[in-house]
Amino acid sequence: MKGYDTALICPNGHFANRYKNSYPEQNTKHCSQCGEENISDCPACKKPIRGAYLGHALNSDHSPPPAFCPHCGKAFPWTERKK
Ligand SMILES: [Zn+2]
Ligand SMILES: [Zn+2]
Repeated sequence: MKGYDTALICPNGHFANRYKNSYPEQNTKHCSQCGEENISDCPACKKPIRGAYLGHALNSDHSPPPAFCPHCGKAFPWTERKK
């Protein structure tokens, strides 16, 4: 497997699932840490948010969520909220 999975993440930047496509059974509607509704695509351009790198061992990717959408350049909700 190569490339990236899609992330399921809440607007505060808490990952719900870094493997939305590979492990859909782990998907949840709301964040377990803050209760907000999880998203998996950019609110501005609707492209999927990058999840874990599939070349690495499972759950070895602990990188923080991306600050900006690489497709449209808009700040993600968790980036805006940190201001
Ligand atoms: Zn949260
Ligand atoms: Zn975008």
